[in-house]
Amino acid sequence: MQYLSTRGFSPQVDSAQAVLTGLAPDGGLYLPAQMPEFSWTDCVKADVLNMAEMILSAFLPDIPNMQTLVSKAYTGKFDTPELTPTVPVGDFHVLELFRGPTSAFKDVALSMLPQLMTAAKTAKGETKDILILTATSGDTGKAALEGFRDVDGIRVCVFYPHGGVSQVQRRQMVSQEGSNVAVCGIYGNFDDAQTGVKEIFTAFEEKQLPFRLSSANSMNIGRLVPQITYYFKAYRDLLDKKVISLGDEVNFSVPTGNFGDILAGYLAKLLGLPVGRLLCASNANNVLTDFILTGCYDRRRPLHKTASPSMDILVSSNLERLLALLCGDSATVAQWMQQLSTQGYYQIPRQLLEKIQKQFWAGCCTDEEGADAIARVWSRYGYLCDTHTASGWAVAEDYVNQTRDRRPMVVLSTASPYKFPAAVLSAIGEQAAGDEFAQMEQLHGATGVKIPKNLSNLRQKPELHQTVIEKDAMCTFVLSLKKEN
Ligand SMILES: *Cc1c(COP(=O)(O)O)cnc(C)c1O
Repeated sequence: MQYLSTRGFSPQVDSAQAVLTGLAPDGGLYLPAQMPEFSWTDCVKADVLNMAEMILSAFLPDIPNMQTLVSKAYTGKFDTPELTPTVPVGDFHVLELFRGPTSAFKDVALSMLPQLMTAAKTAKGETKDILILTATSGDTGKAALEGFRDVDGIRVCVFYPHGGVSQVQRRQMVSQEGSNVAVCGIYGNFDDAQTGVKEIFTAFEEKQLPFRLSSANSMNIGRLVPQITYYFKAYRDLLDKKVISLGDEVNFSVPTGNFGDILAGYLAKLLGLPVGRLLCASNANNVLTDFILTGCYDRRRPLHKTASPSMDILVSSNLERLLALLCGDSATVAQWMQQLSTQGYYQIPRQLLEKIQKQFWAGCCTDEEGADAIARVWSRYGYLCDTHTASGWAVAEDYVNQTRDRRPMVVLSTASPYKFPAAVLSAIGEQAAGDEFAQMEQLHGATGVKIPKNLSNLRQKPELHQTVIEKDAMCTFVLSLKKEN
C-alpha cells in the first residue's frame, strides 16, 4: 500500500517505509493513498488480538507476520487479556485505555510500535541502527522508553518539558532502565520540544548521523493505526452488553492533545465502524475547541499549565491528517501549515469547516470543572477517573445537555488516576500531603482503588537521567549520542 505526505512534496513510500521514516521529508505526515478494503462486521466479531491484526494488516500490508507481532506486543503486558475493557459508569461507558505497562493509553500503541519498527527495518533491509526521537507531554515518553528498551538495533531518546510534566511522569522517565535509552529535560514547553524534534529531522543529512532517525510520536503512522483497535473493541463490548445492535451508531468523547487518539476514531469510522459524533475534549488549552467552532486555528496565545499536562498543547500535529483527508488538496494543506508556522494561525473555508462539524464536536473544561467532574463521578458512581478522562467526561455531559443526542456515549479514559494523585485527591476533597508516593498511598486509603504496580514500584528506582538542557541544544544532545551498544 502506498503512503503519501499530507503536504505532497515527498515521494510515495510503502507502508513499511512509512513506519520506518515517521515524518515525511517535506515535514508532512504519511497517509494511505487510499483507504484499505475492510470488513468492519468481521472485525467486531473477532477477539481483541485478532482485531488488532486485521486492522494493522489492512493499513500496513508491507509488514509481514502481523499475527506474531501482535501476539509478541501484547501478550502478558496488560493487566487484563482484554487489553482495553469498557466499564458502564452512570449513563456513559468508560473505555479504560490505561491498563498497560506505564498506566497511560500510549501503551496500546507503543507496545506495538517496536514490533512494527523492527519488522519494517528487516523488510526494507535497513542496516543502520534506528534512533527513535520523541517529544513528550508526559506519557508518550515513558511508554516509548518502556516499549523500545533493549530492542536490538533501535535506540530511543526522549525530550520532555522540564517542570511541564507531573511528578510521577517525571519519575517514570528519569528512572528508566535499558542500555539503549536517553532521557533529557528541556527548558521550554511541550511545543518547544515537539518543534525541536521536528527540526532535528530536517537538520541532518542521512550520512551525517550514525543512525537513521524515526519517531514514536503520533506523527508516525505505526503509532496511530494500533489505536484504531480499541474503538472496535468498545463497539464490540456494547454489542455484547446489548446496549446496541449491529449497525447502531456510538459517540466517543476523547481527551485530546495532539489529535492522534481522536483521529484513530475517525479512521475507525472510515473503515466502516458506526461511529456517530467524535467529541474533541480539551482543557484550558482550547485551540481545538475554537478551531472546530470557527475554522480558525490560532496558536497565538499562552500555553497554560494544567492538571492534565498530557493535553497541554497548542499545535496538534495530527489535525493536519484530518485536513488532508477531508480537503484532499495537499498544496493547500502545506500552505496552511506554512502559515501556522510563520504567522501563527490559518483559516479554513466554510465548506470544509461544515464537513468537520458534521463528524466532530468540541468542548473544553478548566481545571476546576475537571475537578468537579472527578468529584461527581466518584460520589455518584464510585468510579475514580484521572484529570484527562475528567475533561472527556465533562465535555460528554455538555454535549448531551446541549444536543439531546441519545446515542450511547463512550468516554475514553486515557490515564490511571495514580499518575496525577495530587490533583485527584484535591478533586475529591482531600488535602494532598507529602511526595507523589505518599499521595498515591493517601489516594488509595481514601478510595480503596488499587495502585498499579508499575507506579508503586517507582519509589525504589534511582534517578538515572538528570540532564536538563536549553531548547536550542537539542541537536547537540542528539549528536552526542554515540553509536555504542
Ligand atoms: C497523550 C494523552 C492524551 C492526548 O492524546 P492525543 O493523541 O495526543 O490527542 C490524553 N490523555 C492522556 C493521559 C495522554 O497521555
